[in-house]
Amino acid sequence: MKRILVTGGAGFVGSHLCESLLNQGNDVVCLDNFFTGKKEKIIHLLDNKYFELVRQDVTMPYYIEVDEIYNLACPASPVHYQYNPIKTIKTSVMGAINMLGLAKRIKAKILQASTSEVYGDPELHPQPESYWGHVNPIGIRSCYDEGKRCAESLFINYHQQNNVKIKIIRIFNTYGPKMEPDDGRVVSNFIVQALQGNDITIFGDGKQTRSFQYVSDLVEGMTRMMATDDSFTGPINIGNPGEFTMLELASEIINITGTKSKIVYMPLPKDDPTQRQPDITLAREILNGWEPKVQLREGLIQTINYFDELLSNQKEK
Ligand code: NAD
Ligand code: UDP
Repeated sequence: MKRILVTGGAGFVGSHLCESLLNQGNDVVCLDNFFTGKKEKIIHLLDNKYFELVRQDVTMPYYIEVDEIYNLACPASPVHYQYNPIKTIKTSVMGAINMLGLAKRIKAKILQASTSEVYGDPELHPQPESYWGHVNPIGIRSCYDEGKRCAESLFINYHQQNNVKIKIIRIFNTYGPKMEPDDGRVVSNFIVQALQGNDITIFGDGKQTRSFQYVSDLVEGMTRMMATDDSFTGPINIGNPGEFTMLELASEIINITGTKSKIVYMPLPKDDPTQRQPDITLAREILNGWEPKVQLREGLIQTINYFDELLSNQKEK
C-alpha cells in the first residue's frame, strides 16, 4: 500500500483519480481549496478509512509524508482560470514550488498535470512533445499557459539540480462524468444546453478543432506514467488523437440527445487555439500498451447520462 497525495483531488479529474488510487489499494490524501472542486465529488469516499480530505491552498506550504504526489491543483476551464489570473499563476508556480519542495524533502515521486496549452495556438500539427509551442505571453490565456510552462521548468530543474523523481504529463482536452454543469468548457456547456433545450453556443465559426479524451483513459495514463522507470521524466502527451470541430461536437450531442436546441454563434474568445491533436507515439511506446479506449460517441453517451441524472435531481430539489 502506497501513501499518495492528490492536490486538486476534489476536482473533475482529481476525484476520478482519488477513486482509482483507492480501488488499487492505496492510502489517499486529497488536498483541495474547493475553488472549482466540490466535496460532493468525493463525499462517497469519506467513509473509506484509507481516504483523507484536507482543505488547504497549494500556494501555502504543506507537510505530509507520502510516497507519491499527483499535482493537479489548478482551475482548468478558461472561465475559471481567467476569473483571477494572478491567483491562477500563483497556483501553478507557487503550488509547484511547494509540492516540489515537499517531494525533495520526503523523497517522494511527483507527477505534474501539465497541459496541451503549453503548445498554445500550435503551428505544428499534430503536436509532439518536442514542439516548443506558440503561446502569447501577455494574452488572456497566459496566466494558465505560462503558469503551466513555468511549472514544467520548475519540475525539470528540481529533477536536474536536486534529483527529485518527476513525471510531467501534458493532458489534452478531457471530459466525462463529474464535470460541473457550469464548468464553462465546451463538452459540458453543449450537453447542458442540449438537455435543457437552450441554444448551443458555438464560439467563432465552429471550425476550430479539439481532440477529446474520456476521463478513464486519462486516469489510466496518469497512473501508468507514475509507474514508469525513475529515469523517465516526460513530458509525455496523454490524449485521444480523434480530432473534431466544435460544429461536429455540437451535432454529435444534438444527435445523441435528440434535442430541439438550435446552434447560435458567439464571438470567438481571444487567442482561442485553432487546432489541437496529440501525437501519442511516445505514450504508446512508454506506457506499457496504454491506448485511449473510449471513443467520442461512447464517452459522450456516458457523460450525457450523468448530466441528465444530475439535472433531474437538481430540478426535483
Ligand atoms: P478542475 O477545475 O475540475 O479541478 C481543479 C482542482 O484544483 C479543483 O478541485 C480546485 O478546487 C483545485 N484547486 C484550484 N486551485 C487550487 C489551490 N490554489 N489550492 C488547492 N486546490 C486548488 O479541473 P480538472 O479538469 O480536474 O483539471 C485538473 C488538472 O488537470 C489541472 O491541473 C488542469 O490544469 C489539468 N488539465 C486538465 C485538462 C482537462 O481537459 N480536464 C486538460 C489539461 C490539463
Ligand atoms: N467553445 C464553444 N462554445 C462554448 C465553449 C467553448 O464553441 O460554449 C469552444 C472554445 O472557443 C474552444 C473550444 O470550444 O474553441 C474548446 O473550449 P474549452 O474551453 O472546452 O477548452 P480549451 O479552449 O481550453 O481547449
